[in-house]
Amino acid sequence: MNLKKALSNSIFNTITKAADDLSLESYVIGGFVRDFLLKRGKEKDIDIVAIGSGIKLARKVSDLLPSKPKIQVFKTYGTAMLKSNDIDVEFVGARKESYAQDSRNPIVEDGTLEDDQNRRDFTINALAIKLNSDGYGELIDPFNGLSDLERKIIRTPLDPDITYSDDPLRMMRAIRFATQLDFMIERSSIESITRNADRIKIITNERIVDELHKIMLSDVPSKGFLLLEKTRILQHILPELTALKGIDEKEGQKHKDNFYHTLEVVDNISKHTDDLWLRWAALLHDIGKAPTKRFSKKVGWTFHGHEFVGSKMVYKLFKRLKMPLNDKMKLVQKLVLMSSRPIIISEDHVTDSAVRRLIFDAGDHIEDLMTLCEADITTKNPRKFKKYHNNFQIVREKMKEVEERDHIRNFQPPVSGKEIMERFNLKPSREIGTLKEAIKEAILEGEIPNDKEAAIAYMLEKANEMGLKKS
Ligand code: ATP
Ligand code: MG
Repeated sequence: MNLKKALSNSIFNTITKAADDLSLESYVIGGFVRDFLLKRGKEKDIDIVAIGSGIKLARKVSDLLPSKPKIQVFKTYGTAMLKSNDIDVEFVGARKESYAQDSRNPIVEDGTLEDDQNRRDFTINALAIKLNSDGYGELIDPFNGLSDLERKIIRTPLDPDITYSDDPLRMMRAIRFATQLDFMIERSSIESITRNADRIKIITNERIVDELHKIMLSDVPSKGFLLLEKTRILQHILPELTALKGIDEKEGQKHKDNFYHTLEVVDNISKHTDDLWLRWAALLHDIGKAPTKRFSKKVGWTFHGHEFVGSKMVYKLFKRLKMPLNDKMKLVQKLVLMSSRPIIISEDHVTDSAVRRLIFDAGDHIEDLMTLCEADITTKNPRKFKKYHNNFQIVREKMKEVEERDHIRNFQPPVSGKEIMERFNLKPSREIGTLKEAIKEAILEGEIPNDKEAAIAYMLEKANEMGLKKS
């Protein structure tokens, strides 16, 4: 099969010339070829393998390019990288790898194209297209990767037990590709991953999280989490989630399976947002339910305080997985903490003050919170489904009305601490905080409107009660 048409990017002409000049057999291999055949349509990073020195080839390519791009050389890995028109091109010499038990870093020797294809993770990632003039565009597909692409199958080139135990990261990659591309993982691979699941512990958290992010950003993330669960990898990397599995029954009362519910919420929210962290919030919104689950005869199953407990768990989980402990983490925490608030409001008569408090507490994240809560509706009862959505619609309308009138979002105290100190001749003291808090409370409760005049009048009244004298 000839795939010249995959090589339309002009960088390939230059690589062909360089490879011919050096008499170096060269191929484009891996993700680029796969994604071309899948017509994924994204200009992707390009991986080039040379049967010989990849670094030499990269130097020659840079020489031939008018822009003479800088090349980054990684001597220890025998690789070199350059950027051309915003595409990363990586050059590597074909190699043969052998692995020790306790490490995913192989012993590397020079090898043939076949050796290099053997060390690839999946048949669909081992496809190579020849770049030299002699044989230009020829597809080299020793493992029937093309047919696996058509059948949508993830399969390893070698015995799966070798591929996965050599580098356990490949287990996550298999599941990630299956999720991203909507492929099936062949049965012997699934069995091998399940057997090797605990080897995931030799993989760094950063790499695990990279794969989790990619799963999370897929169209239907639940597919990946179900595979992680089925192969027992999930219990090693996100035990908080597997703890949500199962339905308990006592005295004829059951609760829902919060694991499968969570995955539905993640899929739901993914239809409405591509925001990685909002999707994470959906994944973690119920993790506090496992440690807070109780049963009582009177009320049945309860998860009191699971939002608070869950938001504390978010911090620990991020820390353990070496995820950033920054404002993204805080957003996830806040959404978990507040995840029941709009529901509680919507179940009752929606009052202005409850809505003002919601907007005040959620701040800039009120839209995200509403998106999460709407995704949280997973009831299979169409009547209830409609009712819950309708209730949130009422909350949204009320929010709009209240916000237009009261401007609670990005609330600024109408009277500043400085002003209070001047009016009552106070040094920094507790009274100032008390007054500011009282004003804020009065506004949120709707006792006074959110404007300066009303706030000052209210403050004078309060100050009088507190026995403060005007200066
Ligand atoms: P994407 O860039 O979309 O993640 P990709 O297939 O290009 O997909 P990369 O991580 O960029 O993935 O790797 C490029 C190629 O290197 C892969 O196609 C595969 O052939 C090989 N490869 C990457 N990681 C591994 C690994 N852990 N084990 C074996 N081969 C790998
Ligand atoms: Mg790539």
